[in-house]
Amino acid sequence: MPDLFPIHLLDLAAEHAAYQAELDAAWRETVQQAAFIQGPAVGEFATELGAHLGGAHVVPCANGTDALTLALLSLGLPPGTEVIVPAFTYVATLEAAALLGLKPVLVDVLPDTFNVDPAAVRAALTPRTGAVVVVHLFGQCADLEELTAICQPAGVALIEDNAQALGATFSFASGATAYAGTVGEVGTTSFFPSKNLGCLGDGGALFTRDAACASLLRQLANHGQSQKYRHQRIGLNSRLDTLQAALLRVKLRHLPAAQHRRQAVAVRYDAALASLPGLHLPARDPRSSHVFHQYTIKVEGAGRRDALQAHLQAHGVPSAVYYPLPVHAQPAYAYLGYRLGQFPVAERLCRQVLSLPVHPELSEAQVAYVAAVVSAF
Ligand SMILES: *Cc1c(COP(=O)(O)O)cnc(C)c1O
Repeated sequence: MPDLFPIHLLDLAAEHAAYQAELDAAWRETVQQAAFIQGPAVGEFATELGAHLGGAHVVPCANGTDALTLALLSLGLPPGTEVIVPAFTYVATLEAAALLGLKPVLVDVLPDTFNVDPAAVRAALTPRTGAVVVVHLFGQCADLEELTAICQPAGVALIEDNAQALGATFSFASGATAYAGTVGEVGTTSFFPSKNLGCLGDGGALFTRDAACASLLRQLANHGQSQKYRHQRIGLNSRLDTLQAALLRVKLRHLPAAQHRRQAVAVRYDAALASLPGLHLPARDPRSSHVFHQYTIKVEGAGRRDALQAHLQAHGVPSAVYYPLPVHAQPAYAYLGYRLGQFPVAERLCRQVLSLPVHPELSEAQVAYVAAVVSAF
C-alpha cells in the first residue's frame, strides 16, 4: 500500500521513474550521436506528434511563448493590428502580440468553462482586427464552432494557444471531430515540464494543416532561412533541442496512459465533490473532451477560496491558483488602458478558482483523501 503522503501537485519524478530506462536510452543515444541541434529526433518527434494529432503538420520550436510569437509572425500583420485575446489566461498569450508591436484587445471569458466568450469576441471585432488568439484553458476546448464561424467570414486568423489541451478533441455540428490546435490557421503548444506532454526543460511546437504554412513556420523558427545562410525573413532562433525531442518521443508513447489516469482522477473528484454548497466543479462542454491539465473548482463567498486553500495546506494537500490576477491588472499591460471592472467574469474567476492535484500518479486513496478534506471544509 503506497503512502498517502506526500501529496504532490505534480509528481514528475514518479512519472519518469516508471520509464526511466527508456529516458536513459534516449539520452545516451543523443549524446552518442552528438547532433544536438536539428538532429534526427526532432523530425521524428514532429512526425509522431503529427500522427497523434490526426495528421497535422508539426513544427517544433523552443517554447510555447515563441510558438505564439512565430504564429503571429507568420501572419505578417502590420504593427498596431488588433489581436483579440482572453482576459483570463497565462500572460504569454498576450506577451507575443505585445512584443511584435501588435495591439492586444482583451475580451471576457465564460464563467463555467473559463474559456473565451464568443459573443465578446464578435463584439470586439473591428476592421483593424488581424487575429483572434484563443486558449483551450485547463484542458478543454474553447467554442471552436462559434469561433470559426466568427473568424472565417471576417477574414481574421484564428490562432489556438493549445499549451494546456494537447490531445483534446472538439466535435462540430457537422459531425466532424478535430484535435485542439489543428482547427485554426495555426495552433501552438508548450512542452514546459508541467504541461500534459512536458519535456525535461523548455520546448514548444506549432500545428497547421497547411504544408506551405508549416514550411514558413519552420523557416521563421530558424532565423528565417530557406537554406543555410539564405535568409528570406526576419525570424527567431527558436528550435527544439534534439535531446528534448528524443525525451519527448519517449513521453509521447506514455501520454495516452497518463491522460487516461488524469481523466480518471477527474471523474472521481466529480463524483466525490458533487453537490457541495458554494463549490462548483469544472463544467464540461459536451462537444469537447477534457484532458484535465488542471482540475479547477470555483469557491463562492468572499475569502472562501483562500480559506479552503489554507485548510487544504494544513491537511497536507497542495493546490494552486491559476490565475490570481487577470491580465489587465498586470502592471506590464497597464499601457493598454483597461480598468478593473471591465472584465467582470475574469476578475471574479481570479478570486474563486482553485486547482486541485490531478496528476497521473495520484493514487485512489490520495484522491479520496483530497476530496474528503475539501468536503470537510
Ligand atoms: C505554459 C503556457 C504558455 C507558455 O509556454 P512556455 O513554454 O512556458 O513558453 C502559453 N500559454 C499558455 C496558456 C500556457 O499555459
